[in-house]
Amino acid sequence: MIGVDVVVAGAGPAGSVAALVLARAGVRVWLVERETIPRPKLCGDTINPGAVASLRELGLVGGPLETAERLHGMLVTSPRVAVRATYPRSRVALALSRASFDFWLTDAAVAAGAQFDCEVRVRGPLWRGTAGQAAVAGVEFMRGDGRLSVQPAALTIAADGRRSVLARAAGLSRHPRAPRRWAFGMYVTDVDGMTAMGEMHVRPGHYVGLAPVGGGVTNICVVTGRRPEGRTVEDVIRRVLMSDRRLRDRTAASRSVGRPRALGPLAVDCETPGVPGLLLAGDAAGFVDPMTGDGVHIAIRGGLLAATAALEALESGNLAGAAPALSARRAATLGSKLRFNRWLRRLVGSAAAMEVTGLGARVAPGLLRRLVRYAGDAA
Ligand SMILES: Cc1cc2nc3c(=O)[nH]c(=O)nc-3n(C[C@H](O)[C@H](O)[C@H](O)COP(=O)(O)OP(=O)(O)OC[C@H]3O[C@@H](n4cnc5c(N)ncnc54)[C@H](O)[C@@H]3O)c2cc1C
Repeated sequence: MIGVDVVVAGAGPAGSVAALVLARAGVRVWLVERETIPRPKLCGDTINPGAVASLRELGLVGGPLETAERLHGMLVTSPRVAVRATYPRSRVALALSRASFDFWLTDAAVAAGAQFDCEVRVRGPLWRGTAGQAAVAGVEFMRGDGRLSVQPAALTIAADGRRSVLARAAGLSRHPRAPRRWAFGMYVTDVDGMTAMGEMHVRPGHYVGLAPVGGGVTNICVVTGRRPEGRTVEDVIRRVLMSDRRLRDRTAASRSVGRPRALGPLAVDCETPGVPGLLLAGDAAGFVDPMTGDGVHIAIRGGLLAATAALEALESGNLAGAAPALSARRAATLGSKLRFNRWLRRLVGSAAAMEVTGLGARVAPGLLRRLVRYAGDAA
C-alpha cells in the first residue's frame, strides 16, 4: 500500500491524461494498467483534429505525433456516393499506432509525477460505509504474480475502458440490447490508392474504415452488426472486402502484418459518470460507436474533466460533490457531441435513412462535408 490521493485505473488516453493533470497539480496519483505497455489496441488509429488541438492545449506535442501520418480529411462512400471532405486548412488529423500513442501519453503522466505500475489489474472498488450511503474508498487489485491487495484513496477514477470493472461494480454501465456491433481489425500492406485521407465506407449492415498509418501500412477496421461470416478475424475482414465493389480491387494484393483482432459488443450505456468516491472517464463513461472516430478525443476531454472535478473536490474537501460536478461538466462539454454520435449511429443502422442520406449527399455534398468536419471535431 502506498500513500495516494487518487487512483486512476487504466492507462489509455483517458487515464493517462487524468493522471497527468492531477500530477501537475501536485496530487499524489497512482496510475495502474493491467497490461504490460506498450500494449496493442484495436482502433482505427486516427487522432482527430479536435484531439490534436486538445493535446496541444495540454502542452503535449512532439513524440510520435511528429512522425505520424497527416490526414487532411475523410473520403466517405456509400454504395451510391463518394464524397471527399477536407478539414479546414489549419486542421489535420494524425494516424499512428495506438500502442505508441498511448505509451507516449503514459510516459508524459509519469514525467509529470504520477506513480505508474503496469500488470496491476483492478478487480473492483473498495467500499466504505453501509448500503444507501456507501462510497468508493479505493480499489482492490491483483498484481501480475497473483498477489491480491487493496489501495485506499480519497478518489478513484475509472478509465478502464468499455468493459470497466469499476463502472459495472458500481452499477453505472452496461451493454445495451441494441445496437449490438462487433469490430474486426488488422494491419495490411499494399492497399492501392491510399492518400493522405482517412476513409469510411458505409454499407448496409456494416462499415469499413481505412487509415494509412505510415510505412506503407494501412489499418483496416470492419464494424458489423450481424453475425459475420468467416472462420477467423482475417477471414471476416477479407470476405467483407471481397464483396465490396469499391474495395475489392484495391485490397486484392494486400498482405496482413501482425495479429488481427476483434472486440464487441461495442456500445456501452452509462447513466451517470460517477458515485461518491468514483469518477468515470473515457469509454468507461459510455461508448457510442467507433464510426465518428472521436473516441480518443472524448477520452482526452473526459480524463481532463474527471481530473478537474477531482482537484476541486480535494481542495474543497467535498468528495461527494465530485461526481455531480463531473456530470454537469460532461453534459455542458460533451453532451451535444454525444447526442450527435447517437443520431449518426441510428442513421447508419437504418437502411432507409441511409438511402435518403445517400441521395441527399448526391444533391448537396456540402452537407456531408459539414457532417464529416463536425464528426472530426474540426468544424
Ligand atoms: C474498432 C474501433 C475503432 C476505433 N477507431 C477510433 C479512431 O480511429 N479514432 C478515435 O479517436 N477513436 C477510435 N475508437 C475509439 C477509441 O479506441 C476509444 O474511445 C478510446 O480508446 C477510449 O480511451 P480510454 O482511455 O477510455 O480506454 P482504452 O483506450 O480502452 O484504455 C483503457 C485501459 O484500461 C486498461 N484496463 C482495462 N481493465 C483494467 C483493469 N481491470 N485494471 C487495470 N487496467 C485496466 C486497458 O488495458 C486499457 O489500457 C475506436 C474504437 C473501436 C472499437
